[in-house]
Amino acid sequence: MAVIPVDRKPLSFAERTYMPQILSGMKITFKHLMAPKVTMEYPEERPAIPAGYRGVPTLVKDPNGREKCVSCQLCEFVCPPKAIRITPGEIPPDAPTRHVEKAPQAFDIDMLRCIYCGLCQEVCPEEAIFLQQQYTMTGYSREEMVNHKDRLYELGGTLPDEHYKWDKKKAAEEHGNAH
Ligand code: SF4
Ligand code: SF4
Repeated sequence: MAVIPVDRKPLSFAERTYMPQILSGMKITFKHLMAPKVTMEYPEERPAIPAGYRGVPTLVKDPNGREKCVSCQLCEFVCPPKAIRITPGEIPPDAPTRHVEKAPQAFDIDMLRCIYCGLCQEVCPEEAIFLQQQYTMTGYSREEMVNHKDRLYELGGTLPDEHYKWDKKKAAEEHGNAH
């Protein structure tokens, strides 16, 4: 096999000192040093979450502190990865909310299954489940990654109720009109 010798271009004096390469690297370093920061010291610093962000699904109460979920199980039915498990429970006859048919006895959302699609929020007829701004979910076991009812209400808090549906129903019942 023929060997073709290649003439190597001799280095200039500047190239032999490595100065052009060092200066070019320093120029890039100083450019980024002066530019606005694009990173943050998480978790001490947190980003501003935009409106409409779909974080962890949560259950919410109305301004009277009453749970809005009526345990209809539509969200459980519609959830694509089957992340929701609901055990419906009856409202005791002596409870102030006895005019509401049902409430969840147990309500679990498995965050290892949830894909944050928001279908549960869209389908809920009571506006009881919302994907809010919470985006960190950590745990040491699979069980810790399941949000139970208490935790779901703790994360969800209270949201303004526009319709006060159950107050209207209660008032109608007290006036002898159940519908
Ligand atoms: S956001 Fe989607 S995946 Fe998660 S619980 Fe709701 S319906 Fe299921
Ligand atoms: S959260 Fe809404 S859709 Fe799900 S069971 Fe409760 S009322 Fe029904």
